[in-house]
Amino acid sequence: MTTTFELTKLLRENIQKLVPYSSARDEFKGEASILLDANENAYGSPLERNFNRYPDPLQHQLKLKLSGIKGVPARNMFLGNGSDEAIDILYRACCRPGIDNVILVPPTYGMYEVSANINDVAIKKVNLTADFQLDLNGIAEAIDANTRMIFLCSPNNPTGNSLHREDVETVLANFNGLVVIDEAYINYSRQKTFIQELTEYGNLVVLQTLSKAWGLAGLRLGMAFASEEIIEIFNKIKPPYNINLATQELVLKALDNIDTVNAWIKETVAERDGLAEKLHALPYVLHVYPSDANFILVKIDEPRKLYEYLVAKSIIVRDRSKVELCAGCLRITVGTPDENKELISALEKFS
Ligand SMILES: *Cc1c(COP(=O)(O)O)cnc(C)c1O
Repeated sequence: MTTTFELTKLLRENIQKLVPYSSARDEFKGEASILLDANENAYGSPLERNFNRYPDPLQHQLKLKLSGIKGVPARNMFLGNGSDEAIDILYRACCRPGIDNVILVPPTYGMYEVSANINDVAIKKVNLTADFQLDLNGIAEAIDANTRMIFLCSPNNPTGNSLHREDVETVLANFNGLVVIDEAYINYSRQKTFIQELTEYGNLVVLQTLSKAWGLAGLRLGMAFASEEIIEIFNKIKPPYNINLATQELVLKALDNIDTVNAWIKETVAERDGLAEKLHALPYVLHVYPSDANFILVKIDEPRKLYEYLVAKSIIVRDRSKVELCAGCLRITVGTPDENKELISALEKFS
């Protein structure tokens, strides 16, 4: 392992050579009164408001606003149609199908593996330790000449805990490929984000999303933060208009309401901690895993039975009992106070 990171060595040759699509909105960006360059419908849309014009391909306004909130320059930011788009682009940029590999650290978010399979990229799994932390020796041993990326998720889904910061830093400092840190749940965490470390680590990619704390899962907006050099690659590969106009406009509006979101985060964290205590008190609960996210992993005797019981009561949780290191586990998302009360009341009647 060496620590000199060179992005060009990591990129697939076809991506290094790629000439990206140049859209009408790339070629003319100014103000004009008659736009006859993009084959749009000049009459409008059959709606109360018009969506007949293509959106800004690079979402300048949106990035500027996000930049103010995140404290990261717009040039270090890629916006995707959900985090999933960013994950897929990373595979396509760096991994030669049938040749290269990535390291995943189960139990973790399922999309890293699905996206690897779609792109025909081999996976090396290095399970987390019993307390869901990184196995640094295992990771070091798994890395070979064709290892292009390591995906880390902190706070981790489905376990809920944050990874030890020093361990993540060790991986960042010693791995000569991309380290992708998925911070989908960072707003609920006691841990600090890694987005302030972009100047420190050229191989760092941080993923965040508006799908969780911001309550905008239906609009599909994922963010990747990385060096300018990496962001340029994202922009080269992405579909020209990957963030639609409705999403760009609605997210701009939503970002004005950060106080509401911060209040929800506070309440969710308080509800989570209350829920954890109540779960702990249930006689059939074997373990309540500490959570830095908006969900709790619990281990019980008969997870499937409890799952079915809750479904019959119209309460749906996630059965994770077939996942590595999660035998017996259900994952429960924190709801509103009323929903959590109903959940607990149902759980107290189960035996
Ligand atoms: C929910 C979640 C996401 C969000 O994905 P989007 O495509 O942005 O909705 C990303 N990573 C993890 C670990 C998640 O749990």
